[in-house]
Amino acid sequence: MVKTGPRPLVAGNWKMNGTTAMLKEPRLLAGMLRDIKLKCEVLVCPPATLIRRVKSVMKGSRIRVGGQDCHWNASGAHTGDISAEMLKDAGCTSVIVGHSERRANHAETDELVSKKAKAGHGAGLIAIICIGETLEQRKGGKTLQVVSGQLKGSLPEGATAANTIIAYEPVWAIGTGLTPTVAEVAEVHSHIRADLAKLMGDDGGGVRILYGGSVKPSNAAELMGAANVNGALVGGASLKAADFIGIIKAYM
Ligand code: PEP
Repeated sequence: MVKTGPRPLVAGNWKMNGTTAMLKEPRLLAGMLRDIKLKCEVLVCPPATLIRRVKSVMKGSRIRVGGQDCHWNASGAHTGDISAEMLKDAGCTSVIVGHSERRANHAETDELVSKKAKAGHGAGLIAIICIGETLEQRKGGKTLQVVSGQLKGSLPEGATAANTIIAYEPVWAIGTGLTPTVAEVAEVHSHIRADLAKLMGDDGGGVRILYGGSVKPSNAAELMGAANVNGALVGGASLKAADFIGIIKAYM
């Protein structure tokens, strides 16, 4: 698929999955992609414990490595947390912030997500800011209002098309096998695009907007083909190289 607009990105979020036994998957993926002419960028976000190892087994490939979260401070007394600087130092190019699982499980607010995105920018990372409505909000006709509010509240000052990516991830579609229709995805993405133009001016047109939520090889081409969809954020189907490449193939 050839799409006009910003260069697409297919990003894999391993969440809290993976020990060294899983390193065979990124190694396989790098091998599969070696001779393929891609029309998208590819990113793998493993757990922090595997960042260096994943990078090492994919050495020589064009696949980038990212973090799944970061603290808003560069260093300090924050036991168990990881800073954007540390991710950068480990070889990451990007960091996911505001994933709905963190918003729900760690009570992360838009304000906090904005601080994390800003910390990512400060460390030279691309911040992938996640937004999306719950099923209740969708049923209540509040989807566009919710994503607008999250976008406005989570986008930090200094966000540009080069340092920021938005991931629209309906909460009810994550890990459930359910997806919105292509028309519903296109409606939300064009709404986000219009909001980005209001918030960022001309640069808003260049920000990549990923769709995330139960993307798999069988639905990737259709979802990626929707207007203003500039790639995918993939959870479950990014864990196996054979599945992940099936999604990347939407851009071959
Ligand atoms: C995600 O966690 O960002 C995600 C989209 O998960 P899944 O692809 O498994 O729905």
